Amino acid sequence: LVSEAMRAGHNQYAPMTGVPALREAIAAKIEATYGRHYDPATEITVTVGASQAIQSAILAVVHPGDEVIVIEPAYDCYAPAVALSGGVVVPVAMRVDAAGYSVPWDAVRAAVTPRTRMIVVNTPHNPTGTILRQPDLEALAAIVDGSQILVLSDEVYEHMVYEGEPHASVSRHPVLAERAFVVSSFGKAFHVTGWKIGHVAAPAALMTEFRKVHQYNVFCVTAPMQHAIAAYLEDAAPWRDLPS
Ligand code: PMP
Repeated sequence: LVSEAMRAGHNQYAPMTGVPALREAIAAKIEATYGRHYDPATEITVTVGASQAIQSAILAVVHPGDEVIVIEPAYDCYAPAVALSGGVVVPVAMRVDAAGYSVPWDAVRAAVTPRTRMIVVNTPHNPTGTILRQPDLEALAAIVDGSQILVLSDEVYEHMVYEGEPHASVSRHPVLAERAFVVSSFGKAFHVTGWKIGHVAAPAALMTEFRKVHQYNVFCVTAPMQHAIAAYLEDAAPWRDLPS
């Protein structure tokens, strides 16, 4: 499909926000999988993998002196992005006991201050393999509801689920989705990490801020890959069969 896209002439810059057919396919996938409708025009952006989505989201909304709660151990790209934006990482250690790793929401709540700008969550979690479940989403929602705190949800392993445990996407939760950047990676979903292509979904007001950064640090994502994945997603079979 990629070489077909190249032969079809998709070799020049793509639109800044992503090829429309791909944004529409992403919106359809999220809605079918998690039940939330994101407007492909204003609420979905195609990115250079999840890493760029994460960095641009943090740069867009975290300002000097803002605090970002990161649950540790954490994937390595959150803290440098917070540092680059002049923010301060507030680490909260995961609880580990006989049942495995879990997020101590009381400690997260205790870490909140008037400077807290964002809480970063990652499910399924790298490196521990633990997952958030519905009660975790409820606990997070109870912390952020009525506050100015945004959520960055790294869901690159959304399709690697444990049997009988649906992926607890933040996009499933209305209170959280209203204030969240939800990040996914086609690299992980379709095992093509070398393609470096992913996406971010967020309410329009947040996406407007995201795109102000994206416009100038990336501008756009490789065109033939976008056309190829859009064509791949047109046939629902490959992703409807993915666990979620
Ligand atoms: N988040 C997590 C938790 C990851 O494990 C990875 C890749 N190892 C990424 C983000 C980055 O994904 P991408 O290759 O799409 O930038």
